[in-house]
Amino acid sequence: MTFVRNKEDFTCEHCGNSVIGTGYTNHCPKCLWSKHVDIDPGDRAADCGGMMEPIAIEGSTGKGYMVRQKCERCGFERRNGISDTDDIETVLALIKKATG
Ligand SMILES: [Zn+2]
Ligand SMILES: [Zn+2]
Repeated sequence: MTFVRNKEDFTCEHCGNSVIGTGYTNHCPKCLWSKHVDIDPGDRAADCGGMMEPIAIEGSTGKGYMVRQKCERCGFERRNGISDTDDIETVLALIKKATG
């Protein structure tokens, strides 16, 4: 099965937000959840389909921040770049949660 088009709009299955695909991100900018459909971002090579929960924010100002996500279904973890369209309140809440 091959998908050539990986720039797609989708509805977030966590919060119901309508997400306009950019081709660079596949997570919801509102809640930062995504779906486990990629092994590498955009490849659609995973057949898990579980929801990936944002569990931590990582990174530095030089390289930019990443959100670490963990699949609820299979436990797969990956890091996703945060873009400037992502909800800063959600990002800050995650940092707070991680630092206590
Ligand atoms: Zn969402
Ligand atoms: Zn999974």
